Amino acid sequence: MQITELDSITCDLHMHSKYSFDSFMSPNRIIYTAKIRDLSVISVTDHGNMDIYANEFSRENRERILEKHGVFVIPGMEIETNRGDIIGLFLDKEVSGNGFESVVEQIREMDGIVVLPHPYHRDCDPADLLSHIDLIEVVNGRCKSVQNERAGELGDENDVPIIGGSDAHMYWEVGQIRTVLSNEASDSNYDKTALLLDAEREVSGSPLPYLLTHGISFVSGRLKNLVEGTRS
Ligand SMILES: [Zn+2]
Repeated sequence: MQITELDSITCDLHMHSKYSFDSFMSPNRIIYTAKIRDLSVISVTDHGNMDIYANEFSRENRERILEKHGVFVIPGMEIETNRGDIIGLFLDKEVSGNGFESVVEQIREMDGIVVLPHPYHRDCDPADLLSHIDLIEVVNGRCKSVQNERAGELGDENDVPIIGGSDAHMYWEVGQIRTVLSNEASDSNYDKTALLLDAEREVSGSPLPYLLTHGISFVSGRLKNLVEGTRS
């Protein structure tokens, strides 16, 4: 099934599972949480890998999840580049390397969509990156409000389509930030890109306390390190 065939699109396209170094969330419970929070589309965008898609969310399993739970899963990944993090959506395989331009090129080769997450959580000026990306994340569930406000202004000033993402690492964050897209397929050229970039949208939700989310993630990362250290 194509995303454009869905009746309603309430999405959260930025979250992490146990396949990220700093999250413990299980794929099954992510789906369950998305379902009870009325999300119809999610993307699990683990840091630097797509193991969740190789191991648990194969194309076949994603079809099954959609049929059984009404949750459409977009294969994605968050990549740390030399110009800050980038998210690729609709990927067929993992992106390699950390050069910003090469990462963007690999996503485009797969006909994927390039998202600039938390634009002001990086060392360079995000304005310089806008010509390379498709969507700008103007509300990130783990950013300080001042960073989100600046991201919103950057999107407005440059007329770049916007999106919100929870950046969930824990279940209670899933869908905390969500984007509702009006799916108004009008002609045969209407595809996923048109939907994600051109459809009317509304981003809602507010970030959780910065120190709380980042504090817990810091501890989670340390714990995972410890657990993995004792296993090897
Ligand atoms: Zn993230």
